[in-house]
Formats: sequence, structure tokens, C-alpha cells
Amino acid sequence: MKFTRRHIAALNYATLISSFILISLFQAAPANAQTKNQSNAVILLYHHVSASTPASTSVPPEIFKEHMTYLAEHYSVLPLPVIVNAIKNSKPLPDKAIAVTFDDGFENILTNGHSVMNALSLPYTIFINPAEIGRQKSQLNWEQVKKLHEEGVDFANHTLDHLHMLDRLNGESEAAWLDRVWKNVEEAEAQIREHTGESLKYLAYPFGEFNQQLANRVKQAGYIGFGQHSGGVGPHSDFAALPRFPAAGPYARMSSLKVKMASLAMPVLSQTLQNPEFAANTLVGKQSITVRQEDVRLKQAACYFQGETLPVDFSDNTLSYTLDKALPIGRSRVNCTAPSASKPGRYYWYSQPFFVARENGTYPD
Ligand SMILES: [Zn+2]
Repeated sequence: MKFTRRHIAALNYATLISSFILISLFQAAPANAQTKNQSNAVILLYHHVSASTPASTSVPPEIFKEHMTYLAEHYSVLPLPVIVNAIKNSKPLPDKAIAVTFDDGFENILTNGHSVMNALSLPYTIFINPAEIGRQKSQLNWEQVKKLHEEGVDFANHTLDHLHMLDRLNGESEAAWLDRVWKNVEEAEAQIREHTGESLKYLAYPFGEFNQQLANRVKQAGYIGFGQHSGGVGPHSDFAALPRFPAAGPYARMSSLKVKMASLAMPVLSQTLQNPEFAANTLVGKQSITVRQEDVRLKQAACYFQGETLPVDFSDNTLSYTLDKALPIGRSRVNCTAPSASKPGRYYWYSQPFFVARENGTYPD
């Protein structure tokens, strides 16, 4: 783990993590499996911290303060890079590790959110669109980005201009499409590096939209991808599309958010579905995930799609769900949860997103 960053706060995390590693060593954890079990985290996703912006992506300042106060009291809130590096290397994390992220770089993060985070000494990451920075008053400008960065906030890539990455131009080949969207990502990364000196190579897909080809490019280029489907993050997660729990709008209610904060990453060893992008009117049909079972009560698993429970079946350590319903245009997802055997009240969480373009090859907001 590298702690080359400027802020003193990082020292506290270093101490926390190293004492945790020490404790784990003394507990004589020989099995890799045990280390893997201890490497679990949740990533929360926010946009606006405001009572006067679109409700679906906003959390009022007093609710945001309530969320963060709860986290400070019950969780180890860590910088996103600390969590990602630990999980990638199957290093232990505190039992309840969580990261806070914001997408889009709105100014209300600074005016309404930053003081809350500062007062509670909580680290966080903002995914920004460099072409939008400073363009409107509602957006952070580069001076504010620099100031926040100096105060320990991490900045990462949300593409240059918040395009729908899966939109195809008229007559565009797949190769030309991938080339075009990847240039956009690299230009954004270059601008973030230029203004902050930081280049994490973390890409949060706008609207959470990605497909297999794009995910492959993300991996090849040494990036980590972040989506907007839900679930915990662990060593078996797909690092080209790590899940994040949206925590604003309809998801801001503390009762349901608490269950998500406490969720565990479903340890998926393999799955039948590889590409989340579908042509309109295709049936998803029966799909399976094979999991590392030790602690997952798989036979108690339940899968949901648009509020409905899906038929499921099991064999050994494989869970299958059947979705015999045409996917809607845009974004949808199947969520499956299963209780933990060793951690009462906590659930392993798996989410499979689906993306379907309109007839003209573009995606709705
Ligand atoms: Zn966004």
C-alpha cells in the first residue's frame, strides 16, 4: 500500500490498517480464504448535496449529515484507493470498511458536503467531467478542485463530458466506437492529472453504462471501472465494473441504506452472462453464478427484478435465476442477496446490470 499522499489524515489510515494487519497476523490467519473473507467493502454513490436540485440524485444537507454521522460512528470510512488496493491484493480491511464517492463534481459538494466530511475527518472521492468543470456556476471550477485536492479529496475520471459511452454514431463500426470513447477517457485523465497531479486511473461510467468490450479496454489500459449497480466489493469482484450503492433520492432512507452499508460482496467465481448490453426484446433467460460458498447461505438466496421476485434454482454452489421478460430500454438490473452464515443480519449481495439501446442506437438519460 502506498501512502505518498500529502494529507496527514492518510497517516491515521495507515496506522489503522497496519494495526489491523498486525492483529490479523497474531490471529494466525494461514488460509488465503480467511484473508479474502476479511477483504470486503462497500462504496456509496452521491451526486448533489442540496435540497433544491433534482430529487432523484440529491440528498438534502441534513440527511447527508445524518448518513455521514452514522458512518463515522459505525464504520471505517477509508479513501477509495486504500480500499481498492487492499481488495485487489486480498489484504485485510477493517470489518466495516466503506468509501464515499460523488459523481459529476457539483459545487454543492463543496458548499454543503465538504464541511460535514471535514468535521468528521472522512475521506472521499469525486468523479469529475473535466470539460464541465467551471462551465456553469453549479459546477466546481478548477481552483476549487485544486483546493479540495490539497485538503485530501481524491479526484477521478467520469469521462470528459458525461457522454453515454454506449451510444453509437450513425454507421459507426464497433472498433471506431471503442476508439472514440476511449480517447474521451484518456483526455479526461490527462486533464485531471494536469490540474491536480493525480492520476488514479479510476473511471466511473456515466449513468453506470458499460459493456464487455469497454470493460476489456478498461482492464487492458490498467484502469479500474466503477458502475452504478449495487453490491459489496471483494476480491472476487469484477474490477472493470465495481458496484456502488446509490445513496440519494429514493435510496437515502436510513433503514434500507443500513442493510446496504452492511452488505458483503458475493464471492462470484464464474458466471454465465458476460456482456450486460442487450439488443431490444432479447430475453435474458436463465443465468447462473457460481460462488465460493463457505459463508454464503446460497439456498436462502433471493433474486429480484423491478420489484418482482424471480424464480431461482440451486445446484452445489451455483445459483440460477430466470428472467423471461423483455428488458426495458435503458438501464435495469437483477439483484440477488443471500444471508451470511457467520455474520447475522448481513447479506451477500450480487447485482447484474442490463443496458438496452433505443432503436437508433442511443441511450436515454
Ligand atoms: Zn454522472
